[in-house]
Amino acid sequence: MTDRFGRTIDYLRISVTDRCNLRCRYCMPEEGVPMLGHKDILRFEEIVAFMRVAASDGIVKVRLTGGEPLCRLGIVDLVRMLLAVPGLHDLSVTTNGILLPQFAADLKAAGLKRVNIGLPSLDPTTYAHLTRLGSLDTALAGLKAAVDIGFDPIKLNVVVLRGVNDDLAPYLDLTRRLPVEVRFIEYMPIGPLGEDHYLVPATELRRRLEALAPLEPADKPDGNGPAQDYRRIPGAPGTVAVIAPVSEHFCPTCNRLRLLADGHLRLCLFGADEIDIRPALRPVVNDEALRALLVRAMQQKPECMPETARHYGRAMGSIGG
Ligand code: SAM
Ligand code: SF4
Repeated sequence: MTDRFGRTIDYLRISVTDRCNLRCRYCMPEEGVPMLGHKDILRFEEIVAFMRVAASDGIVKVRLTGGEPLCRLGIVDLVRMLLAVPGLHDLSVTTNGILLPQFAADLKAAGLKRVNIGLPSLDPTTYAHLTRLGSLDTALAGLKAAVDIGFDPIKLNVVVLRGVNDDLAPYLDLTRRLPVEVRFIEYMPIGPLGEDHYLVPATELRRRLEALAPLEPADKPDGNGPAQDYRRIPGAPGTVAVIAPVSEHFCPTCNRLRLLADGHLRLCLFGADEIDIRPALRPVVNDEALRALLVRAMQQKPECMPETARHYGRAMGSIGG
């Protein structure tokens, strides 16, 4: 699929739930987000019906996200069902890792090859503070489960907040020991915290990394996605990269759509433009109507994020990042 600005759209992020077992300060309000009713959430059959049409129209890459995707009952079945969709080449999951000790083996057996894990600090006190409900030990047990079962690549998402979790050195040490790709992500000041002063711009992140250790260029792991400049400490199994959604936004090369748990197709992370796909799924699946909605999405997808990226209408945890 190509949108009206000539961008190839081949990537779909599917948020399977907006519930989460953590409450990261940069993502969710302390009380969580209002819970969707059971019938407001897309059923697996509906997600797969949409995916069949989307894959036949050129969506080849899917990421399951949330909320916390592993909190969605039956998530392993959904992975299996999606991997059976013809044309889908690449499926991954973004998780906070807390439930990976429980799910890693089943996910691998279902055919999942790779995961992204949100790990906002390697310091126990900071991790507990930032995630409000989490413990670093549990998160590290999740990371270990992912390494032991052989997911490859394993990417670690670190949303960096100035003065809170901006000690990058422990992550560099981790790359000396583990084959992980640590991605330092600029904090988007649109979550519940709001304030800009937490943002550490990408240029500063890169400068700080280079001051910590000699780094050499490393291959980009999958040739896809927005992370730039993969680097490694010579000889280290892991790599680091910086993702700059704020200071170097990727609108001109945007390749994605987002399907939200409540059946809305979100056209831009920051823009409130959404298309409700449920009328094409209920009471019965209508492939032609789904295809028409995808055509509409290509016509409506905005060229770039709105000037004031704060008015994005939903919590990050409801959109899936
Ligand atoms: N629960 C999973 C997790 O934490 O990885 C998946 C959902 S979470 C919304 C997806 C990703 O969004 C997180 O890994 C985090 O990197 C990113 N994220 C959340 N809030 C953010 C913010 N304010 N700025 C930048 N990235 C954010
Ligand atoms: Fe939950 Fe992920 Fe948001 Fe943290 S970043 S609150 S783990 S959805």
